[in-house]
Amino acid sequence: MRTLKMPSGGRMPVLGQGTWRMGEDPRRRADEVDALRYGIDLGLTLIDTAEMYGEGEAEKIVGDAIEGRRDEVFLVSKVYPHNASRRAMRVACERSLRRLRTDHIDVYLLHWRGSIPLAETFEAFFALREEGKIRDFGVSNFDVEDMEEARQYDRGLTATDQVLDNLMRRGIEWDLLPWCRRHHMPIMAYSPFHEGKLLTKPALRIIAARHEATPAQIALAWLLHQDDVATIPKSSRRERLEENRGALDVKLTREDLAELDEAFPQPTHKVPLAVS
Ligand code: NAP
Repeated sequence: MRTLKMPSGGRMPVLGQGTWRMGEDPRRRADEVDALRYGIDLGLTLIDTAEMYGEGEAEKIVGDAIEGRRDEVFLVSKVYPHNASRRAMRVACERSLRRLRTDHIDVYLLHWRGSIPLAETFEAFFALREEGKIRDFGVSNFDVEDMEEARQYDRGLTATDQVLDNLMRRGIEWDLLPWCRRHHMPIMAYSPFHEGKLLTKPALRIIAARHEATPAQIALAWLLHQDDVATIPKSSRRERLEENRGALDVKLTREDLAELDEAFPQPTHKVPLAVS
C-alpha cells in the first residue's frame, strides 16, 4: 500500500476503511467485524472511526476486528469537540482505547471545531502524545482559517485534516488543499462516494466502462491520483471491499481527468467547507 508522509515524519496508508454507521444495529455486528477483518486482509489497514459512531459501538467493532492484529493496522479515531479540553480529552481517549482494546491510536483527530479554545485542545493532544496514547494528532472539518489558527499551537505537527472531498464536492481545491500542500500535510477525504450518490452519475459509468472498472473505482482513483490525498470508503460487504481495493490498480488518463473535470467542475471561487 502506498503511504503519505505526515509532518511528524510518520506515514499513513492512502486507502483505508471508514466505519460511520457501524455499530448501530446489533444484527449487523458480525458482518461489520468480518468486513473490517477482510479489508485488513486486502491491505486496507487504515481504519477510521470515532467515539461518536454508534456512541462508542463502532470503536468496539473495530476492537473486535483488530484483535490479535493491532500491529497490521493504522488506527484513526476522533474526539468529540465537547471532549477536546485538557481533562476531558484524556478521559475520552482512555475510553476509546478501552473500546478499541489497544494501548495507542495512530492518529487522533478533533472531529470538528467546537467552543473549547484550540490552544487547550492542542495542549491536550501533546500531553497524550507524550504519554504514548496517541502517535499523531490532527483535525477534521477545518477550513483554511481554522488551519491558520491551529498552526499557532500545533508546532507544525498536525498530521491531517479529514474533510468531505469527492467529485461532487470539490470545494477544497480552491484554497484548503493548496494550503495543506504548502504545509506538507496530507488530506484524508471522507465520503468518497458522497455516501453512494456519486455512483449513478453517467460520466463515471462511461469512464468505468473504458477501464473495465466500476464507478466506485473511478471515484476512488480520482482521489488517489492526487498527491497527498488519502481516502476511507466505508463498506460492510466483502465484494465491495475487493472492488474498492481494486481502485489502486486503475490509472486515469489525461482524457479521463478532462472528462471528469467537465462533468464535475473545479471550484472557481471560495466555497465554504461542505459537511454533506
Ligand atoms: P462513503 O464511503 O462515500 O459511502 C459509503 C456508502 O457507500 C455505504 O452505503 C456503502 O454501503 C456504499 N459503498 C461502499 N463501497 C461501495 C461500492 N464499491 N459500490 C457501491 N456502494 C458502495 O460514505 P461515508 O461512510 O460517509 O464516508 C466514509 C468514511 O469517512 C466514514 O465511514 C467515516 O469513517 C468517515 N467520515 C468522517 C466524517 C467526519 O466528519 N470526519 C464525516 C463522514 C464520514 P455498504 O456498506 O452496504 O457497502
